[in-house]
Amino acid sequence: MTALPQFSHLRHQIHQYTRTDAEQALNASRPGIHELAALLSPAAEHYLGEMAARSRQLTLQRFGRTTQLYAPLYLSNYCTNRCVYCGFSADNTIERRVLSLEEAEQEAEVLHSRGFSHILLVAGEADAIVGVSYLEDIARRLRHRFAAVSIEVQPLEEEQYRRLFTAGITGVAVYQETYDETLYDSLHPSGKKRDFHYRFDTPRRAGAAGMREVGIGALLGLSDWRAEGLSLGHHLLLLRNQFWQTAFTVSFPRLRPAAGAFSPLEEVTEKNISQLIFALRIFDADVGLILSTREEPHFRDGMLGLGPTRYSAGSCTAPGGYSNPDGNGEQFSVGDHRSLSDMASVIRDKGLDPVYKDWDSTFQH
Ligand code: SF4
Repeated sequence: MTALPQFSHLRHQIHQYTRTDAEQALNASRPGIHELAALLSPAAEHYLGEMAARSRQLTLQRFGRTTQLYAPLYLSNYCTNRCVYCGFSADNTIERRVLSLEEAEQEAEVLHSRGFSHILLVAGEADAIVGVSYLEDIARRLRHRFAAVSIEVQPLEEEQYRRLFTAGITGVAVYQETYDETLYDSLHPSGKKRDFHYRFDTPRRAGAAGMREVGIGALLGLSDWRAEGLSLGHHLLLLRNQFWQTAFTVSFPRLRPAAGAFSPLEEVTEKNISQLIFALRIFDADVGLILSTREEPHFRDGMLGLGPTRYSAGSCTAPGGYSNPDGNGEQFSVGDHRSLSDMASVIRDKGLDPVYKDWDSTFQH
């Protein structure tokens, strides 16, 4: 896959844009990568209200009055990597656990009984513990009960994604964490995740394997969020050029307190995330934008209808945490503890429709 422009170049580029550039980008009929850069610039901060209005209008046009809801299901917190910012890092002393197939099914049952029909299977990166066969087995058990089962696990080969698709997995999320390659090297001191380019190429492999949905993202708080946003735009363009039938999503995970007590390297405020979301929506009207329970209720509520199209709800980030809420071993502590039904009420109060499924896996076979 073609490489991205250098991160340092993008960072420099964004700061060159003026208020006039930002205004032109806002009014562009077909915004491209230069318009995205202008909308991410400090100059565009003066137009945040106008950006919100445009983003809202585009979201309504393409997605209607809907907000999709999903929950993560943590399968395992074993990890062979040592990402310095993560609670699951092999360096941290936490209670480790991998769910048996029966336990995973039990967790899924709790989520199903709460009304979820879209789940995201999450695991630390440990091939020997959570491998493709294990994921296939789980997918086969869950596929008929859920409208969509996606994964956020270690990067896999194209052929492995094909196997998982056949077993019933329809979506893959893999976040680059940071597109700043120099910083990436220092944050990932050992393990398979050290390979920046292999990770960068993962969404392409998932798309090539026929996954219906592919998610990318950057972990906010590691590097310059504006340049991360522009890198996400470049990455999205590369993927869209190859896979016009695939649905793409972008997530905006912001660093949360976790075991290891890593402090963010860059401050990213709610205002910054808003600008990032509005800019990406204006740049790509079709992309799904995800705002997870990492964020606090007041911010999530305020953003409803303005750009994001999918929210998680009632999330627990420890394996087995839905069946046993008193257990340990979480990846990070969440910012919004509200249940699915509470979240659905808030969405309705905003005049939007909470959507529990947007796809039926029976169409796949
Ligand atoms: S971010 Fe992922 S790969 Fe890195 S330590 Fe955490 S779980 Fe493992």
